Amino acid sequence: GNDVRWLFADQLGPHFLDGDDQRVLLVESRRVFARRRFHRQKAHLVLSAMRHRAAELGERCTFRQADRYRDVFDHRPRAVRGPLTVSHPTTFAARDFVQSLDRVQMLPARGYATEMDEFARWAAGRRGHQLRMEDFYRGTRRRLDLLMDGDEPLGGRWNYDAENREPPPKPKARPELTDPDQRSVLGVPGPWWPDEDEIDEQVRADLDRWEADGDVTFVGRDGPRQFPATRTEALTALRHFLDHRLRAFGRYEDAMMSGDPWMAHSLLSATINLGLLDPVEVVHAAESAYRDRPDQYSLAAVEGFVRQVIGWREYMWQLYWWFGPEYRHLNELRATKPLPKWFVELDADAVQARCLSDVLGDLRDHGWVHHIPRLMVLGNYALQRGWRPDQLTDWFHRSFVDGYDWVMLTNVVGMSQYADGGRMVTKPYAGGGAYINRMSDYCGQCPYSPTVRVGEQACPFAAGYWWFVHRHRDRFAGNHRMRQAIRGLDRLRDLEALVEQEEHRGSRGP
Ligand code: FAD
Ligand code: SF4
Repeated sequence: GNDVRWLFADQLGPHFLDGDDQRVLLVESRRVFARRRFHRQKAHLVLSAMRHRAAELGERCTFRQADRYRDVFDHRPRAVRGPLTVSHPTTFAARDFVQSLDRVQMLPARGYATEMDEFARWAAGRRGHQLRMEDFYRGTRRRLDLLMDGDEPLGGRWNYDAENREPPPKPKARPELTDPDQRSVLGVPGPWWPDEDEIDEQVRADLDRWEADGDVTFVGRDGPRQFPATRTEALTALRHFLDHRLRAFGRYEDAMMSGDPWMAHSLLSATINLGLLDPVEVVHAAESAYRDRPDQYSLAAVEGFVRQVIGWREYMWQLYWWFGPEYRHLNELRATKPLPKWFVELDADAVQARCLSDVLGDLRDHGWVHHIPRLMVLGNYALQRGWRPDQLTDWFHRSFVDGYDWVMLTNVVGMSQYADGGRMVTKPYAGGGAYINRMSDYCGQCPYSPTVRVGEQACPFAAGYWWFVHRHRDRFAGNHRMRQAIRGLDRLRDLEALVEQEEHRGSRGP
């Protein structure tokens, strides 16, 4: 048609347009960066991706750099005075804004595997039961005919999680590292990295200037751009992952290693979230890689990856809309402490605890850490200390290159902080030092000891775990998955000293 397609900054791939000649409106709003204190590398990535897209579209694109979105719509540029169409945006606020505008038609969401009303029908049909990711995921596998063998899952099993929970390989079992930049300790090549160009140079100069003008401030360190900003880079990164790294995915998915933040993860979240890759194309490509060369991959690795992209990611997206805007304010555990400064500032040097310091340092340097550091180190620490879930949600959103409102709410409020009282998970993701010790190589390099609860050597995660269970003992008394923890609490002789110790830890970094 003649409609001009308005693209948000997370709708940058070809699947958001209807044809090769469709005209486009792109708006860069500076106010977005003034309102929130983003990680420097996140601001860079988003601006770089948008400007690359505008440059690529050339004459077809009306690109406006404005203070606020609204400025553009109050005085529409001549080229976009006619009817505009836009794919369903990814936040409540953006959706409401779109609906408030004249001559703008909102289309169904693109870049997801399931229509929202289809999910709503599925969820409504399960009233009275807990919604389960696993059920949703199996339905999606069937519908997309993905890793299927007729009606049955390929290989006869839907779920390989049990094989994907190994601790990190022990030092002596690790392959020789010839070039630490090239080879991950898991014996596969490291991730693919993009090269910067003159657009990146301009972005860097603009961000420096905005900062010098005092308009915006950032957290984290600047550094070379590490995530794709164009469709071409996105496809290269995907290909590299599938050809070289997917085979090591899964097995060590839950493990953490100092000195290798990337392990065998895909690093594709920021790329998919920018709309540069369609998740459905990503999982089909993974399946093809496997079917073409089955000797190269274990099914557990491929299924594990597909489960993340078309299972977890899709489920989180759907639940954002299904739970509605009020979900953001839930705080069932009444966690009221503000986030301390060292955490907000990503001040890894203020922290002695090896695991936390290492993870904060990686986040400061890259704007990214993988799922388990997010859940079992950062989120776990906040949960144990009773930090405000709304502040934590905002912090995750700002500090991660892949952070967007829709992906934050369910991951932080629901999965990580149990602030929804258990609508998403059956028990809180609280874990002690023993868990971190089993799943990482951090504890050997730490001044604390993972099993010590009280005293100089007390591990803040070990003590924090019991402090958390103690504070919420009444609430969890009826939860059979917490019964063992509560029984354990009754056996602790040093509980009083432990509570006193943790209450006085205060706002210092552990
Ligand atoms: P891989 O391990 O390679 O997984 C493949 C893909 O699966 C990811 O690229 C991602 O698109 C998808 N995926 C897997 N799990 C999830 C999930 N729970 N939610 C959404 N997508 C998922 N993911 C974000 O994209 N943005 C966020 O801001 C974000 N914040 C998180 C905060 C917390 C507290 C937790 C527990 C998880 C969060 N996640 C977030 C989910 C997950 O940790 C990241 O998607 C993943 O670590 C990104 O790295 P990767 O691309 O290498 O992932
Ligand atoms: Fe982290 Fe505790 Fe292990 Fe130290 S001992 S690395 S604080 S879990």
